[in-house]
Amino acid sequence: MTAMRSLWSATAAPGPSFQQLAGDVRAEVAIIGAGYTGLAAALYLGCAGRDAVVLEAVEVGDRASGLNGGQVIPGVKHDPDALEEIFGPVAGPRLVDTVASGPDVVFELIRKYEIACAATRTGWIQPATSGAALEAIAARVEQWRRRGADVELLSAPRQPD
Ligand SMILES: Cc1cc2nc3c(=O)[nH]c(=O)nc-3n(C[C@H](O)[C@H](O)[C@H](O)COP(=O)(O)OP(=O)(O)OC[C@H]3O[C@@H](n4cnc5c(N)ncnc54)[C@H](O)[C@@H]3O)c2cc1C
Repeated sequence: MTAMRSLWSATAAPGPSFQQLAGDVRAEVAIIGAGYTGLAAALYLGCAGRDAVVLEAVEVGDRASGLNGGQVIPGVKHDPDALEEIFGPVAGPRLVDTVASGPDVVFELIRKYEIACAATRTGWIQPATSGAALEAIAARVEQWRRRGADVELLSAPRQPD
């Protein structure tokens, strides 16, 4: 695979450079891919005293993790009610809590490891671009508010400039 270029790779300080793997390496856990998922797995395994190795085909953060919009959003494809319906009464609420607390985890990691990424935490606005989208957003607001989240539906005059 060829390295992808992005705004981030063009403007961030260069990351560490690693040698190509030569020979055999033994570890308790082999992690394939040095994006957010692989690196977070390696970090938490390392903190738990486990011996993990990350194998990356191109460069650290080369694919989605190095190409994304940089928005830290507490949400996944499905809304909370759907997640609980799909994953059941035990795993469903746990997944919803994980989604809701995702930004806390990200910003705490940035703070703890002093990651120089110009992070700002200013909230998130999801605009409705049609009547149908507004209905979906209103349902999303209701579901998150029912779970105690600090979410509100803004009318057009209340949107910030
Ligand atoms: C254009 C775009 C915009 C996005 N915007 C946002 C956003 O604003 N906010 C947000 O929260 N999410 C956003 N996302 C989603 C987010 O970027 C991804 O969910 C996240 O980066 C996935 O991380 P990952 O580590 O699972 O995968 P990746 O970052 O894709 O990492 C996978 C790694 O595995 C490596 N790899 C693959 N195959 C092999 C192999 N066989 N051997 C070794 N290494 C291999 C790849 O080179 C890559 O480095 C966006 C995604 C895209 C594409």
